[in-house]
Amino acid sequence: MTTTMQKQTTDADPYSRPAAQFTEDGVLEIRASASGDCRRALWYAATGHPVTNPPTNESATVMEAGIALEPVVLRAMERAGWDIQSPDRDNPTRVAVSIGRTLRVTGHPDATGVMPIFGGETVIEVKTRNPDAFKRWQMLGAERSHPNAVAQVATYTLGTYGEMRDAVIACMDTGSRAWDYEVIPAERLEKALQDTSERLGELAVHHALVGPDPDALPDRDFTAESWQCRGCPFLAECQPEAAETSAKEEEDREVEEVSDDDVRQAVANYLSARDAVRGPEQAKRAALTTLKAWMTGRDSGKAEIDGHTVSLVQSRRYAVDHRKLNALLDPETRAEIVTEHTSEYVRVS
Ligand code: SF4
Repeated sequence: MTTTMQKQTTDADPYSRPAAQFTEDGVLEIRASASGDCRRALWYAATGHPVTNPPTNESATVMEAGIALEPVVLRAMERAGWDIQSPDRDNPTRVAVSIGRTLRVTGHPDATGVMPIFGGETVIEVKTRNPDAFKRWQMLGAERSHPNAVAQVATYTLGTYGEMRDAVIACMDTGSRAWDYEVIPAERLEKALQDTSERLGELAVHHALVGPDPDALPDRDFTAESWQCRGCPFLAECQPEAAETSAKEEEDREVEEVSDDDVRQAVANYLSARDAVRGPEQAKRAALTTLKAWMTGRDSGKAEIDGHTVSLVQSRRYAVDHRKLNALLDPETRAEIVTEHTSEYVRVS
């Protein structure tokens, strides 16, 4: 599947396009931000199937807040010394990368820019994430935590410059408003674009074989348990049983809900248990602070006081520069080094 690029003027409504659509010249056009989506979902969108599971009000608000914060991130980067070229929001430059003759990936880069002191101009893709997702992105790197964003910025880079070069994904933590960035080297963007071309190339072949037939559906890319299906706007159309189960689970959750009184009682129990030990803990901390001040600067790290040994214990912490690690290592090597574990606990504050 050959890949070519074009740079074009804008469409009428650049930021509000379907994930996939057929153009007048018979090309299947995929929005770059949706290039990692399920191919069956893209087919539903392109062939005009009605949406059966629209986003909830809450998720629409999260999405709109993320879009509204993008210029904030770019201005923060400028204040940090980046030279940023922001698009004209009313008339952004559209880039397009063709995959074969009948499929095209299109989109509007968030910005281009040059990082302070070092580096040439790159495409900058801006994301916003909640605190957990932000931390996960920093620790795991974009290819593991947000592979679709890497494919997206690869498309923008080829579409903007006509060649692959390093690109930047900048991300803001919506809790703390801290931001960070990751440089994705050109060769890894090449790979991301190649993977995308192979996936979407199969959709182009499907299109070539059946034409824009709404009933000739491509295979499902995901299973009902996946987050992709659970958030899919065509879930009830594609997997009606899963949609029913999901609705039933929602109902069951409501039935099993713990009452307000139970919750209040649990919090009161927790606080009274915590306060029962708080006094001694605070007293211990105050005494240790006094002892530490006394021990600091003494020749020996140990002292005998009234038959007790007081020691000044040193501990060392090690920090990993995840930004450098992510830039240096490919995702497979990183996956062997940085592993992910999930645990759950309840906190009362
Ligand atoms: S429900 Fe799942 S498999 Fe079906 S179109 Fe959506 S994402 Fe694809």
